[in-house]
Amino acid sequence: MKKIKNLFNSNRDLAAGYSDWHEILSDSIVSADQLSTFLPVNNKEVKKTAIKFPMRINPYYLSLISKKGDPIWKQAVPDIHEIDSPLGSKDPLMEEVQSPVPNLTHRYPDRVLFMISNKCGMYCRFCLRKRKVGLDSVVTEDTIRQGIEYIRKTRTIHDVILSGGDPLLLEDDTINTILKQVRKAPHVKIIRIHTRVPCIIPQRVTTQLANIIKKFHPIFINTHFNHPDEITNEAGKACAILADAGIPLGCQTVLLKGINDDPTVMKYLMKKLLMVRVKPYYIHHCDPVKGACHFGTSVKCGINIIKALRGHISGMCVPQYMIDLPGGGGKVPILPEYVKNIKNGIMKIENYRGETFEYPITGVIKI
Ligand SMILES: *Cc1c(COP(=O)(O)O)cnc(C)c1O
Ligand code: SF4
Repeated sequence: MKKIKNLFNSNRDLAAGYSDWHEILSDSIVSADQLSTFLPVNNKEVKKTAIKFPMRINPYYLSLISKKGDPIWKQAVPDIHEIDSPLGSKDPLMEEVQSPVPNLTHRYPDRVLFMISNKCGMYCRFCLRKRKVGLDSVVTEDTIRQGIEYIRKTRTIHDVILSGGDPLLLEDDTINTILKQVRKAPHVKIIRIHTRVPCIIPQRVTTQLANIIKKFHPIFINTHFNHPDEITNEAGKACAILADAGIPLGCQTVLLKGINDDPTVMKYLMKKLLMVRVKPYYIHHCDPVKGACHFGTSVKCGINIIKALRGHISGMCVPQYMIDLPGGGGKVPILPEYVKNIKNGIMKIENYRGETFEYPITGVIKI
């Protein structure tokens, strides 16, 4: 192991110790015994939890932890609540039921979610796909082949979302091959890549990678930051490489108890994202996933966050707050009630400052 110091003495000069992202990844902490030499954890509890849900904390992400139980720690360190709660379901969104071929979910008419990797730069404790990520032989060459075949023969698919796990943890050549094959389908108009790499292991984003991706434009990347402390110089650099390659960047944040369930934290996160050229896309309400229910918040909490954003800060950094309906019902936006009531054709509308205005429902104002 290289010099992965940690906590309370975090080694933020990581780049000096590593020349390549593979090295950072292979220096990841994967066992409780290892972890307890770096962080003051309950070894027994971590061990028990990590048997059920794999752990991987790479030295870069480890270096962001600045105290016990902080928002970075909570996303990375196994917690006994993952295994001691009866709540939640393995696959609350019924992704498996809506899969015509393994690892591809076709829920909406014009787009599919295609899982091409089940490895990640870290195993996030709140992950929606805890049932799959980090487990061997979930994604294979054969499932990828079947997915591509399905995309090619299904002409209604206009938008392919490459997801995981993390697609960008695949090697450059593999990414190139998959993108090339997906692009061969003339009906596929846009490709999206869903990745936590810019946040979790930004060193993986190289100019070489960006040069591969940009050959297949229009490609969009939605990344995933949950806390302002994740937007470091390294992360900013990764986003710059992608943005400079003409790849529009979005962010899908998950609303998580004890991590970002606070309007001030979210406001700062959204503003910081825009500064690294990432446009906030969604804030996801935390799904009732087995092993992640302790991260759940109330819906009111999400609504209050949107209220605190809309009108108060640039509209460019206001995402939609989405709830994914259990049972595969899909995502719906949840908004604060701006329309207070409608009477005799007149809407009473409240603005961001809480002032009330009237507007005719016909949309025609006589002045
Ligand atoms: C979220 C999701 C999508 C993409 O939804 P958008 O609202 O277009 O971003 C597509 N398929 C599945 C199964 C999803 O869960
Ligand atoms: S990177 Fe994404 S898919 Fe992987 S564990 Fe984290 S949230 Fe889940």
